Amino acid sequence: MKIAIIGTGYVGLPTGVGLAEFGNDVVCIDKIEQKITDLNAGKITLYEDGLEELFIKNKNSGKLKFTTDMESGVEQADVVIIAVGTPTHPITKEADLKYIYAAAGELAQYLAGYTVIAVKSTVPVGTGDNVEDIIKTSNPNADFDVVSLPEFLREGFAVEDFFNPDRIVIGANSERAKAKIAELYTPFNGKTNFLYVARRSSEAIKYAANSFLAVKVHYINEMADFCERSGADIDEVAKGMGLDSRLGAKFLQPGPGYGGSCFPKDTTAMVSMAKGHGVDLNIVETAVKQNALRKIKMAERICNAVKEVEKPTIGVLGLTFKGGTDDVRESPAMEIIQEIIKSERVSVKAYDPKGLDNAKSILTDGIYYAKNAYDACKGTDLCVVLTEWVDFKEIDLAKLKEVMNTPSIMDLRNLLDRDTVRNAGFKYSRIGEADGN
Ligand code: NAD
Repeated sequence: MKIAIIGTGYVGLPTGVGLAEFGNDVVCIDKIEQKITDLNAGKITLYEDGLEELFIKNKNSGKLKFTTDMESGVEQADVVIIAVGTPTHPITKEADLKYIYAAAGELAQYLAGYTVIAVKSTVPVGTGDNVEDIIKTSNPNADFDVVSLPEFLREGFAVEDFFNPDRIVIGANSERAKAKIAELYTPFNGKTNFLYVARRSSEAIKYAANSFLAVKVHYINEMADFCERSGADIDEVAKGMGLDSRLGAKFLQPGPGYGGSCFPKDTTAMVSMAKGHGVDLNIVETAVKQNALRKIKMAERICNAVKEVEKPTIGVLGLTFKGGTDDVRESPAMEIIQEIIKSERVSVKAYDPKGLDNAKSILTDGIYYAKNAYDACKGTDLCVVLTEWVDFKEIDLAKLKEVMNTPSIMDLRNLLDRDTVRNAGFKYSRIGEADGN
């Protein structure tokens, strides 16, 4: 099939690469010229495990192309996938749909022959109806259907998730569109669950799922707070909960608060979308507020741990919102650092295996960006683990101890093995353990 993807970011690029790998002719479109120039030159623009090899292979075979020119990609396409951003609107707190509607308006004029427009971006219920109206208005003769095709991939596992999805949700209101998307997803037949639903249900599924996961993360974080006060241990508690198949073990890892490019914006959008329909989503709303507060509390916890030191320096390990990605959007690490450096009392040295360049584009003042974990911790009074990179799990503790002023680690991801760290002579605190206060 011929596929055009509008928006070549964390969703669009892995999707384009994956669909090309299945033998489709894929054109990835983006309006950022530098991104397209880099991709055309064989330079990958984001980090995802295993993506680069597939990108190069399919680019070289001619199955995967990149352009800024909407016309050349769209006019040939059987399916046009919209994967542009839907950030939080700064004032209304709803999902800002300006990129979606702009893309719909632009693509409309180039449609030729029957085309399915698949909205992969996370969009509020009813957006598919609006996209349909925009296209009809700008090109009344166009033969098309709009479907909702929500994306569930996890950053850091985008390639794995593309090829092994838990489920494929297709929100289509026409049989013709259903058949086209079924054809697109033929390689997954017999390998995953297909769920065909009404377009509005499909749009709601994505928000309902992400809000639930965010609430689950917040729940285990509150349980961790409780464990710290009551003398229970959150890791043991989470393990005991996770063995219950009704609960599931995933998303029961306590931490400094959820972040990233999806949970914060999707929960916020879910709350305002529901309010717009006269419904109060109290649980989600509380998670949104308390999760934001949690990052401030984490910054206070860090500052408290070095309050006896006159001009303390802390070494931060991890800037991305989770391990395995270079994405620092709404990363708890970035928000916590911003909070810490506000006081100007504490200096920060930071390291991340993949997120340094993105972090530097957001936060330059008052931070030393280090070459490696040991450089970040050299001469520091406290080492704080803020992202669960495997690299940090394997850190050489003897070497770390040698470079630090004081051998002290605060592990806000419960990543390290506590006995090993303590036996190596470190003061060590983590989330959800009585010592963690
Ligand atoms: P992103 O910011 O990484 O990429 C979006 C891209 O779209 C950008 O490169 C931007 O330049 C481009 N773009 C915007 N308007 C355009 C236009 N008119 N024409 C061409 N290109 C245009 O965003 P993302 O993280 O890939 O997210 C995209 C959507 O997918 C969002 O709605 C997000 O909520 C959803 N989603 C993201 C993830 C994730 O893990 N990142 C997972 C599931 C769903």
